[in-house]
Amino acid sequence: KQEGLTKLINEPTIMADGRRVELAANIGTPDDLEGAIRNGAEGIGLFRSEFLYMNRESMPDEEEQFQAYRKVAEGMDGKPVIIRTLDIGGDKELPYLQLPKEQNPFLGYRAIRLCLDRQEMFKTQLRAILRASRYGLVKIMYPMIAALEEFRQANQILAEAKEELSRENIAFHPDIEVGIMIEIPAAALAADALAKEADFFSIGTNDLIQYTMACDRMNERISYLYQPFHPAVLRLIRMVIDAAHRKGKWVGMCGEMAADKMAVPILMGLGLDEISMGASSILPARQLIRQLNYGQMKELADKALELESSEQIRQLIQEKVAVIR
Ligand code: PEP
Ligand code: MG
Repeated sequence: KQEGLTKLINEPTIMADGRRVELAANIGTPDDLEGAIRNGAEGIGLFRSEFLYMNRESMPDEEEQFQAYRKVAEGMDGKPVIIRTLDIGGDKELPYLQLPKEQNPFLGYRAIRLCLDRQEMFKTQLRAILRASRYGLVKIMYPMIAALEEFRQANQILAEAKEELSRENIAFHPDIEVGIMIEIPAAALAADALAKEADFFSIGTNDLIQYTMACDRMNERISYLYQPFHPAVLRLIRMVIDAAHRKGKWVGMCGEMAADKMAVPILMGLGLDEISMGASSILPARQLIRQLNYGQMKELADKALELESSEQIRQLIQEKVAVIR
């Protein structure tokens, strides 16, 4: 079986009836690049940039960040590299930022909220990403967007970073794509408005499920409620994909759900254009996707979305998709 997978390293991720999707890797540091390439990643769908900031005494400066982003951009050799801007807070701490203790850290001062409040820090990161954009196909993605104004404000700071670099005669890619992580239910429900202005979406199911179910993703005691196949979650995913497609934008997924072989058939049927996952899941996912028929998966997704519980939906998938059994 392992041998069969190795053969797929340089193969496209193409469904049995010809639909092509992009299968990308999630990484945390430039050191993860090698594994991504070895496993046949067609891009980096999520570079969790916060790892550059963690386990150290102070903030990485622009130059240090630039070197890290550039390394990944060059390493991927023209394939897309989506750098997610700092997603700190929640469960991820940065002692040197001296963040306030909060009652509900997952509902609090984190990710884009913190970046819009500490604009100099954010702009430093954006400058570093922009500078790296000359060395590959770099894209920017903002985490935890809840409202359109946040996206506009972030883009305003990006515009300032671009102006500064231009004034300093530092080269960057002026038309760098800018996307939004859809991981808050409000963003999913209002995705049509966001889709007008964003270049792409990537659905972060780890947080989207947590917030939709009001279920802490780390809390074992209530893990029964953490349901990727809950009809509410699937409806949100469908809304996001349809909203983006109506505006001619592409949609990916970079949460754990993207690597779940039980979920992949439905996700393909719903029309995801890209999925991104830990490197070791890429080849098994490619093998699975190549056996799925898009037309059939569309029908499966339509049926699943009429059902009333996770259990029924899981049963349907198991019944209809022989290759995952
Ligand atoms: C997500 O929320 O699904 C996601 C990919 O981001 P993270 O796991 O880093 O919160
Ligand atoms: Mg998240």
